[in-house]
Amino acid sequence: MAAGKPYILNTVKSGRNPRIPACRMLANEGRLSMNEILKLDNVEKYYGNKANLTKAVDKISFSVEKGEFVGIMGASGSGKTTLLNCISTIDRVTAGHIYVGDKDITTIRGNELNKFRREELGFIFQDFNLLDTLTGYENIALALSIQNVKPKEIDSRIKEVAKRLGIEEVLNKYSYQMSGGQKQRVAAARALITNPKLILADEPTGALDSKSSRYLLESMK
Ligand code: ADP
Ligand code: MG
Repeated sequence: MAAGKPYILNTVKSGRNPRIPACRMLANEGRLSMNEILKLDNVEKYYGNKANLTKAVDKISFSVEKGEFVGIMGASGSGKTTLLNCISTIDRVTAGHIYVGDKDITTIRGNELNKFRREELGFIFQDFNLLDTLTGYENIALALSIQNVKPKEIDSRIKEVAKRLGIEEVLNKYSYQMSGGQKQRVAAARALITNPKLILADEPTGALDSKSSRYLLESMK
C-alpha cells in the first residue's frame, strides 16, 4: 500500500466514520476496474429509527486493489466494525453498493451469498472465535472440510500455513492451552487457508502485545 496521509473519506456532522488511509477516490461508478478487488460505493448503514438514528456508516466510498493491505482507523464507535460487517455480509447495508470481483454483494442472496462467504472471504474476528472443543488443527481444517477438500490436501495446506505463521507447536492444542498471540495466529490461519480473495480482520491485533502484532501482520502479507 502506498504511504500517504490519512484521508478522511467523508466528514459528517456527527463526526463519525472511520478514516481509510491512502485510498483512492472513485474514478468510475459501479463495477470494478481491472486491478480492483473491492469497491464501496456510497455505503450507508443506519441503526434505529427516525426518532433515534445512529449513522454508523455514512456514505463511505473507496476501493482496494489486489495485493493491497489497507488499515481502517478510527476511534471506538466510529463505525469500523459496522463497515467490516457490511463487507463481510454479516450486516446488510442501508444504502449503497459493495462490489467484490464481478458481484454486487449487497444484492446477492441464497446460494450465491453462501458461496461468496465460503469461498471468497476470510474473516478474522477480534475475539478469535475459535471452537474450543476442537484443536488448532481441527479449527483450521474446518473451512476446507466443509468444501470437501481431501484430507491429504488439507493436511499439506495446514502444514504450510502453520509453518508460515509459526504455530506448528499448537496444532494439537485446544484454545485454552494457547496464548493470545497463538490463538490469533490460528484464527488467521483459518481465514487464510481457503485462499480467499479478500481477508477482513477486525482489530486482529487488539489483544496482542506489539511484538506479536507486528509478527501477525508481517506473516499475513
Ligand atoms: P467501532 O467498531 O469503530 O468501534 P461500531 O461499528 O461498533 O464502531 O459502532 C458504530 C456506531 O454504531 C456506534 O455508535 C454503535 O453504538 C452503533 N451500533 C453498532 N452496532 C449497533 C446495533 N446493532 N444497533 C444499534 N447501534 C449500533
Ligand atoms: Mg469495532
